[in-house]
Amino acid sequence: MNAHYLDTLPHSSKFSNRHATRSRIVWGIVAALTVFAANGAEVNVYTARHYDTDLALYERFQQETGIKVNLIEGDSDALIERILSEGKFGSADVLITVDAGRLWRAEQKGVFQNVTSPVLTKRIPEHLRHPDGQWFGLSKRARVIVYNPDALGGGEKPTSYDNLTDPSLRGRVCMRSSSNIYNLSLLSAKIESEGEAAAESWASAVVANFARPPQGNDTAQLKAVASGECGVSIANTYYLGRLIGSDIAADRAVVAKLKVVFPDQDLAGTHVNISGGGVTRYAKNRDQAVRFLEYLTGNFAQKLFAEGNNEYPIQGKATGPIATLGTFREAAVNANAFGKRQALAVRLFDRAGWR
Ligand code: FE
Repeated sequence: MNAHYLDTLPHSSKFSNRHATRSRIVWGIVAALTVFAANGAEVNVYTARHYDTDLALYERFQQETGIKVNLIEGDSDALIERILSEGKFGSADVLITVDAGRLWRAEQKGVFQNVTSPVLTKRIPEHLRHPDGQWFGLSKRARVIVYNPDALGGGEKPTSYDNLTDPSLRGRVCMRSSSNIYNLSLLSAKIESEGEAAAESWASAVVANFARPPQGNDTAQLKAVASGECGVSIANTYYLGRLIGSDIAADRAVVAKLKVVFPDQDLAGTHVNISGGGVTRYAKNRDQAVRFLEYLTGNFAQKLFAEGNNEYPIQGKATGPIATLGTFREAAVNANAFGKRQALAVRLFDRAGWR
């Protein structure tokens, strides 16, 4: 890729050494570009995403608009802390991260400002953006059930999240820890749509079916189900996409063992979460930041942004490996509820003994 269109801000080396070669090229031209940046339009993007396709996107934005994209990559929590500690003297104009529960946390800490954009309002479904425009969904992931038919031991083949509580699956269910944001958002959605009591009894009954104490990330769940250590689990679709599209035969062998179910198709629809972003409270390049978010919701950007992490575009069909999973109906629970219910979800998981 042509590094001339992208450069990093001075502190970025503390946060990401992932593209060492790129960084060296970039550092070589930072000084030369600084002179022009002083007069030209720019936008400072702090992102928890690290995909080469994103870089191609930002480069194209710069070509189309003349707005230079300065990129800081880092861990989500570290970026949020940095924005907060820099306050009004900070450089961030846009923060991009994953999971509405995490966007909500950032919002609660005062990271974002309200944005009104007819373009964003039109392109992003209402349930996938903050009601006041604090943040906007930019791509989607579904939290699906995966099972191994050979490892269900005669247990019920699940079609809904509630099926995971079925006594026939005793000792067959594997799960990631409850502190993980994906499970917190899933339970928060359940609280929002079915109420606290239903959510708590669901969590307790799933715990009663555990094959082992919660451990590992989503990929670890997929591997444990494929190996037969567990009969069934849940995972975000992009983890499946990575395995399906992997160059490594062992990865494809994992996914070949799995049946993937979009839960609740006859009920409220499958739980969906987002990657998203918002304009920071003290953005000095506010107009450019809004324009950048609008750009990311356009057709060209949506395809690359979604494919970069095997996600679904915010509207329309999937492309890339996850397209093979087929289409599904998603639950229309407002993603803002994933955050609002988060504290209660923590307590319910705790009471249920889901570590
Ligand atoms: Fe993830």
